[in-house]
Amino acid sequence: MSRPLPERVQAAARDRFDLTVRPETGPLSTEEMQAALRDFDGVVPTLGDLFSAEVFAAVPDARCRVLANFGVGYNHIDTDAARTAGIAVSNTPGAVTDATADTAMTLMLMSARRAGEGERLVRAGAWEGWHPTQLLGMHLGGKTVGIVGMGRIGQAIARRCHDGFGMKVAYHSRSPKELSFPASRAESLKALAGSVDVLVLAVPGGAETHHLINAEVLAAMRPHAHLINIARGNVVEEAALIDALQTGRIGGAGLDVYEFEPSVPEALKRLENVVLLPHIGTAALEVREDMGLMSVDNLVAFFDGKPLPNAV
Ligand code: NAP
Repeated sequence: MSRPLPERVQAAARDRFDLTVRPETGPLSTEEMQAALRDFDGVVPTLGDLFSAEVFAAVPDARCRVLANFGVGYNHIDTDAARTAGIAVSNTPGAVTDATADTAMTLMLMSARRAGEGERLVRAGAWEGWHPTQLLGMHLGGKTVGIVGMGRIGQAIARRCHDGFGMKVAYHSRSPKELSFPASRAESLKALAGSVDVLVLAVPGGAETHHLINAEVLAAMRPHAHLINIARGNVVEEAALIDALQTGRIGGAGLDVYEFEPSVPEALKRLENVVLLPHIGTAALEVREDMGLMSVDNLVAFFDGKPLPNAV
């Protein structure tokens, strides 16, 4: 395991395998990744462990046969290079869906209702008491949410918006979806951006979605609209977002992820109209346990000679 996972997960892995847990919490270095491929039969990597083509190429006689990624997002692993090296890759879909959708709702509410700004006011001792026109935000009820990437998490967010807040749902994704709630599919990302009150990003990271939200898309958004990103940081061109927030071209933003994570630009920290969370999309013990147990299940299946339940 490239990081300490919850004790229940380590116990499950220890039941079946000779387990080594790297005690550090930060990403693996290049040398550590190469050593992991060289010295272990299976590896549980996670976010930030950049298993690039170069890393695989540097270990031509890898002992490792499977990377059971901890997390649904696997854009940090070059899966083509892994395949070429004969190394299988799995992820943890489903286990993360509801928790990440809840985080999107947290950000939507905090951004629309100016909760971060209000909290800072109280903590600064600057709150002078309730009055009728103080900190007026945007009411979510009856508004339209636009989902970019209507997959598992996108649908869980949309359902919460529809069922819980009486919001209208619109979306953009490459293929139309069969949905259990009313939703309209926009013909383009820009058309979606220009027609919603809250734009929520729920696509995977990677080359295809890099800077999907750029200055042009931000310019298409309505001036009162909020952008919520629980996907991956580099889906948004961060410099363009900072500009849009500074100039008031959009109403606000709620971010769980950052382009150059964990670095968060000072310009963002200085802005009142942005909510900044430290990538806590799935940060609940039982969720992290479910994710870890799913990684272990994939390892067990692999070494039992069975198909990976969550191959990517
Ligand atoms: P998923 O079920 O695969 O959904 C992703 C959706 O994105 C798919 O339905 C796909 O729909 C759409 N999509 C892919 N490329 C697109 C593109 N270029 N343009 C428009 N839509 C596109 O994955 P998920 O389980 O919902 O997870 C989504 C992502 O959330 C993960 O990959 C991960 O990066 C991120 N995540 C973040 C956190 C966090 O802690 N903040 C936690 C969990 C997951 P089509 O095939 O129809 O295009």
